[in-house]
Amino acid sequence: MNTLQGKQPPLFSASLMCMNMLEMKEQFRVLNERVQMYHVDIMDGHFCKNITLSPDFVKVCASAAKRPIDVHLMVEHPGDFLDQLIRSGAHCISPHAETINVDAFRTIDKIKSAGCRMGVVLNPSTPLSYVAHYLNHIDLLTIMTVDVGYSGGKFIPEMLEKIREAVRIREERGLHYLIQVDGACNAENFRAMDEAGAEVYVVGNTGLFAMDPDLERAADILYGNFARETGRAL
Ligand code: MG
Repeated sequence: MNTLQGKQPPLFSASLMCMNMLEMKEQFRVLNERVQMYHVDIMDGHFCKNITLSPDFVKVCASAAKRPIDVHLMVEHPGDFLDQLIRSGAHCISPHAETINVDAFRTIDKIKSAGCRMGVVLNPSTPLSYVAHYLNHIDLLTIMTVDVGYSGGKFIPEMLEKIREAVRIREERGLHYLIQVDGACNAENFRAMDEAGAEVYVVGNTGLFAMDPDLERAADILYGNFARETGRAL
């Protein structure tokens, strides 16, 4: 996961919270050929004021997904869910930095020794320095580009500097994490995100699912939008 320096092909991670749940099987058939990763948002109603998805949902998805599943844990106590998630078939587990400060190294050890990738997610107002002491253990660094809790938030432009800083730190320290952006990954923001150094894009409604009722066409539109906005051939 360490060779992407912003000019390799981007990776798209479909946000399954936004998929058409009535047609899950068909949606996976389409997505398995068109995205590189899956993103599952788990919210507990405490860390943020919404409730979505669950470890059981990850388990169902793992049986249909041909791409790695990254679990974005927006829960107050991620430790309560790790055993279940490890068994669920999650490929990467990404708790919020704000929730693991008390036992970050124990959490990392548990996730990695189970064979999963270690992710960490930063809220827009959390600085990168907050995770500086364990960035060397991180495989996937997610920079929230909207506040958490709801799909459809407005892009926070101050996050572009955080993306650039993440690129800089990785180079300076010789680290390997991929830089993922979550929130408002759509035609309006692809160019700025790409220029800043984003590598993995979590695509939800405004990036993918709402582009067309037909998911194959929606994915074509996503790729077309990205290529047009960034000038990069995909
Ligand atoms: Mg998310």
